[in-house]
Amino acid sequence: MKTSIVGYPRIGSLRELKFASEKYFKDEISAEELQKTAKDLRKSHWQIQKDNNIDFIASNDFSFYDNLLDTAMLLNVVPKRYSNLKLSKLDTYFAMARGYQGKNGDVKALAMKKWFNTNYHYMVAEIDDDTTIKLADTKPFELFKEALELNIKTKPIIIGAFTFLKLARFTGKKNMLNFIDDIIDAYSKILDEFNILNAEWIQFDEPYLVMDLSQEDINIFNELYSKILAKKGNAKILLQTYFGDVRNCYKDICSLDFDGIGLDFVEGKKSLELVQNNGFPKNKCLFAGIVNGKNIWKNNYAKSILTITELQKYSNNIFLNTSCSLLHVPYTLKNELKLADSYKKHFAYAEEKLLELYELKSILSSKNPLETQEYINNAKIFAEDRMCNNIEVQKKCANLSNSDFIRLPKFEVREKIQKDVFKLPILPTTTIGSFPQTTEVRKYRADYKKNIITEDEYNSFMENKIAECIKLQEDIGIDVLVHGEFERNDMVEYFGECLDGYIFTEKAWVQSYGTRCVKPPIVWGDISRAKPMTVKWSKYAQSLTDRFVKGMLTGPVTILNWSFPREDISLKSSAYQIALAIREEVLDLEKNGIKIIQIDEAALREKLPLRKSDWHSDYLDWAIPAFRLVHSGVKPETQIHTHMCYSEFSDIIKEIDDMDADVITFEASRSDLTILDVLKQNSFQTQSGPGVYDIHSPRIPSKEEIVKVIKKMLEKIPAEKLWINPDCGLKTRGVKETIPSLEHLVQATIEVRKNIK
Ligand code: GLN
Ligand code: ZN
Repeated sequence: MKTSIVGYPRIGSLRELKFASEKYFKDEISAEELQKTAKDLRKSHWQIQKDNNIDFIASNDFSFYDNLLDTAMLLNVVPKRYSNLKLSKLDTYFAMARGYQGKNGDVKALAMKKWFNTNYHYMVAEIDDDTTIKLADTKPFELFKEALELNIKTKPIIIGAFTFLKLARFTGKKNMLNFIDDIIDAYSKILDEFNILNAEWIQFDEPYLVMDLSQEDINIFNELYSKILAKKGNAKILLQTYFGDVRNCYKDICSLDFDGIGLDFVEGKKSLELVQNNGFPKNKCLFAGIVNGKNIWKNNYAKSILTITELQKYSNNIFLNTSCSLLHVPYTLKNELKLADSYKKHFAYAEEKLLELYELKSILSSKNPLETQEYINNAKIFAEDRMCNNIEVQKKCANLSNSDFIRLPKFEVREKIQKDVFKLPILPTTTIGSFPQTTEVRKYRADYKKNIITEDEYNSFMENKIAECIKLQEDIGIDVLVHGEFERNDMVEYFGECLDGYIFTEKAWVQSYGTRCVKPPIVWGDISRAKPMTVKWSKYAQSLTDRFVKGMLTGPVTILNWSFPREDISLKSSAYQIALAIREEVLDLEKNGIKIIQIDEAALREKLPLRKSDWHSDYLDWAIPAFRLVHSGVKPETQIHTHMCYSEFSDIIKEIDDMDADVITFEASRSDLTILDVLKQNSFQTQSGPGVYDIHSPRIPSKEEIVKVIKKMLEKIPAEKLWINPDCGLKTRGVKETIPSLEHLVQATIEVRKNIK
């Protein structure tokens, strides 16, 4: 029995890669210095895997921004507008990732999307009719050699041809079928190169296989791999799947010439059943994903052993694996200096998961697995009472009735009442909530946490920032204001820290996109609101202005989706508990004179199950009600906004409308505006603010550009239902680009308004 991982995080246990990259973006260090940091990180990641006796150590899981973008570079999928900038290879890469505005030109970044059901984002490769797919880069080979020089033979990881094509955006007349031959050729060349280097195993990641596949998809997959594998040479090929099960193509992948198949036994509801019903090919190795790559709870050895023992009936070649890349969990508990051991002993981050794999291997290799010390220690932890119950909360949840989920009066009635109360101009302008978080803001927050400054000092700093922010918005001429969210490190962690039942970490950073990381809090027990969380700030902000200031909360589904959830109760139960806590805050804000309350559900779409048949039963049937529970108690004249990141909710448009918010803002600028057609076709009743510019890039949109976007939106959305706003919070942006961008937004709106009725 051997151990393997699907991939390792790359940002650095103290986010070294993030800080180096951001310095490079600001021209503070050279490309060589950035490369040096990257190299040191790779070395230490390989070494850690080696120290933990991992048999299949991963390479090419490193990336400066995103693995899919790396694959696009590898396959020559670089749109002309980027290569035309004539930048260095590294800077062309970053131009695709982040956009470029400088002496060589002005281009937007590629679109960005969520990676399956995770909070990681990948860059969408863009293929046009002039694209020639061919092997065009050497990164995977160089990294393989780099590890060899350290005496470590790695298993290189490359996103597979099928997933790559399925996730690509075809902007011309051609579609994926037109690129099959070229991509087969490119992957064959990749295999040739690795054969020259004597690589033993190569991992192709094909997570797309866990999606609902059509027969045509399966045919394409078969064609791709029957041809790619024909040229595999001496190298062994592992087909790695994750985030679900491969029910549509299990037999197909078993009959192809792969040497190993990686299945996910954590999220793959049917993975075990597939093996039981169909067997597993004798000549292949089964990489059994049993250590959860997405959550931080310790592996329950008893359960894993049961799964492996069952699998051993079908295969003699089982390797222990993670369920997916460890990219989605933080680095190591060693950096959690403040978290008590009574908590920590229940958790395993990436490094500790390596040890779990090793322990499982030793347990399973011993004569009496259940008598090994590793097993006994693990069983003890799971037998313990974690002291996390709150009977009162459990009772409240049990007593919920249908009427708790329904806001009255109906939308149309409220809409009229609110028009009279607010008297906003047509096309009201607003922002999504946060304003740039300068180093100063972060320092004050950190100093307050460390008790370096007093509460009074902290409060008065925050009040000054809020006052500044309100003044800025008034000067720019925005209609509905925000307080700026300076008190928040993160839209979820902040609430986690204010809620009982949550615990939070110091260094549990997980990569979200590019150099950005999030630090999800941990749902430890039953959740309740310990104290008002935002009232003080919102009330202060409102006291400074005659314009309306939005109260700003994060919704229950997003709080849960961006936390590490419990594994001992259902997601639904946790979501309802959180909803009740946020509901208290909503009512408190209303009582304190806040007339517009935004409840962000940035992450609602992201945990939509990958398979359609699971959408309702596993998710929407509780996620939408959880949101309704939060706001069903407010007065008709209180306006409820929600915000969602990304506009990929075309297929759940009815459910989004059913959240029964009064206004929804969402991303739209970075993808095309197709979502607007969907809104129109479905006579979407909720007022909408599709983002008019992309805040994920430092690029400043011109007024003219925004005018065009608004006009386009007006073709699909009636003026009286349209709001004008950026596509997300501004916290990751600099002040420098934020002010002109917002000024252009307001000027553009004013210009368009002139032409309305
Ligand atoms: N209100 C939050 C902010 O502006 C929303 C962030 C988000 O959607 N990710 O930062
Ligand atoms: Zn957003």
